[in-house]
Amino acid sequence: MAEFYRKKKKICQMCAGKSVDYKDVMIISKYINEKGKIMPRRMTGACAKHQRNIGQQPK
Ligand SMILES: [Zn+2]
Repeated sequence: MAEFYRKKKKICQMCAGKSVDYKDVMIISKYINEKGKIMPRRMTGACAKHQRNIGQQPK
């Protein structure tokens, strides 16, 4: 049953070549929860490098 989750392989959108505008609140909000905390990488699929980029963006 746990394998069910793994089927959905998430890749880092930024590594995939998708240009992510860090100023785009809609996109950034996908990586940050309501409390302003960055979502765990497992959830976002972002790599560590880009995850950090997101975290450094001023709100
Ligand atoms: Zn990446």
